[in-house]
Amino acid sequence: MPTPRAIDLEDAALELIRRASTVLPEDVTDALKRAHDREESGSAAQQSLASILQNISMAAEASTPVCQDTGTLIFHVYYPFGYSTASMINQINRATIRATEHAYLRPNAVHSLTGKNSGNNLGAGAPQFHFHEWETDEILVRLLLKGGGSENVCAQCKLPDTRLKAGRNLDGVRKVVLDTIFAAQGMGCAPGILGICIGGDRGAGYMSAKEQLFRPMNDRNPVPELAELEERLLKETNELGIGPMGFGGKTTILSVKISALHRLPASFFVSIAYLCWAGRRADMTIKNGEVVYHA
Ligand code: SF4
Repeated sequence: MPTPRAIDLEDAALELIRRASTVLPEDVTDALKRAHDREESGSAAQQSLASILQNISMAAEASTPVCQDTGTLIFHVYYPFGYSTASMINQINRATIRATEHAYLRPNAVHSLTGKNSGNNLGAGAPQFHFHEWETDEILVRLLLKGGGSENVCAQCKLPDTRLKAGRNLDGVRKVVLDTIFAAQGMGCAPGILGICIGGDRGAGYMSAKEQLFRPMNDRNPVPELAELEERLLKETNELGIGPMGFGGKTTILSVKISALHRLPASFFVSIAYLCWAGRRADMTIKNGEVVYHA
């Protein structure tokens, strides 16, 4: 049996977690600043965004978490042929334990039967790992920290929906997304970021919807129909008037990202992954032992 290629990424993963937890990506911060400037001067919406922006800047300066809920750790690792995924999991797990000791992460992994907190963010399904072998000769590790309040307002809808008169088409997708955001009424710490998947089964749909949350805020979907729907939903969700933290206002959603998967003829799911304003994601690439951090 060939020997797996070796890499030591524990220290690099610790720094990746620190960055994800304490420094919000520039594109997310910029979107929040633009939202702040758009709101009525002195309104509750603007004050709420001002507090969020102040928190972000204090967290980055002090290297402390942007929010007390440091969320679920979701790792996507892209790697060339020959690396041991078990070894990478061990190293990232050790980095997670150290990140918890450094208080970059709150102990967030609770046993669902005993209610006992593991104290180090490790547990069944925690952290989450998704591995992708690719042709490129470098390793890319992507991390998303997804807050619990935002996870609570995720939704999976199926079409058709007679209550909403939503059929199995893009207009039906639009209707169930608007209904979901209206029902959330600012819960999940608005303004939020939406990752949506049309199709797939229930598991693949949610996974793809969450992968959309790694996309930069200002990219454009290469599929014209989806790009158009992203823009329309961004406009229409913000016309709901729910506003930051549900205080009313012009900004309920900061960006909308949509994917589409094949589905069974019998099913048409729309999976909506809602991410709070704390859109904490960070990437690193490792090539020839050199680590480069992004975002
Ligand atoms: S939903 Fe997001 S912003 Fe709200 S408490 Fe959780 S991590 Fe913090």
